[in-house]
Amino acid sequence: MSISTKKKSYKEALLEARDSKIALGAFNIFNFTSAKAVVNAAEEENRPVIIQTSTKTVKQIGVKELGSMLRFLAEQAKVPVYIHLDHCRDPELAKQCVDAGWDSVMLDASDEPLEENIRITKEVVAYASPRGVAVEGEVGVIKGVEEDIVAEEEKPATYEDTIRYINETGIDAIAPAIGTAHGFYKKKPSINYELVEKLGTLKDCPVVLHGGTGLSDETFRRLINLGVAKVNVSTALKHACINTAKEFLEASKLEPLELDQRIEKAIKETVQGYIRLFSN
Ligand SMILES: [Zn+2]
Repeated sequence: MSISTKKKSYKEALLEARDSKIALGAFNIFNFTSAKAVVNAAEEENRPVIIQTSTKTVKQIGVKELGSMLRFLAEQAKVPVYIHLDHCRDPELAKQCVDAGWDSVMLDASDEPLEENIRITKEVVAYASPRGVAVEGEVGVIKGVEEDIVAEEEKPATYEDTIRYINETGIDAIAPAIGTAHGFYKKKPSINYELVEKLGTLKDCPVVLHGGTGLSDETFRRLINLGVAKVNVSTALKHACINTAKEFLEASKLEPLELDQRIEKAIKETVQGYIRLFSN
């Protein structure tokens, strides 16, 4: 299925992807090399892409430094490139990213009771929305380790809670806990396809899938066909980076640029694989 590569708003791009039965890949980057690799992959595949940053990456590099680097890459790119903040628990940091050039921010207060989750999310929507920046929210708790966020147990999202959360917060994209997990899977996940199917028909709130690394191709296709519009992939990029670095370092060459080139290539190929999978 073809999808336009003209730059639209972040939310329009997600809704268009969903209506074309494809999903946009959202890839967690951690420095210039990984960000460039994601952009290069999207250009080679001629697809829009989302560059995602964890709050840990933002804090390490700096909001303004990272924002301006990513905006520069996005503006130079031959395909639409969107910048998204992943799992932010701090409303103030989310607002700083809104001001520093992000197209979308995820406010994650999912470990709070629903009322409190709604209250905190609304505060960020009230700031981001008039500034043309989208907000993603989470209902239920997605299991696993995502940078400095550790969730031992999943708290599955219910349809009723998710709808209430969407309606009361006015968010632009929803990440319900449907049984997928961050990090590698130790056993086959049990996924709530029914919830994805129900939420996949919402007119105005695309569904986001977290914990993309390690799901089977069939699981991805099934979820995308049911309406998932954005798939987050983080662990696979870290894996590509570290494995490549390990191999290179064993050769003890004093060539940091060559190391960067190899890492860029490994991440680019990983990202291309996912973009193809999400587009077929
Ligand atoms: Zn996540």
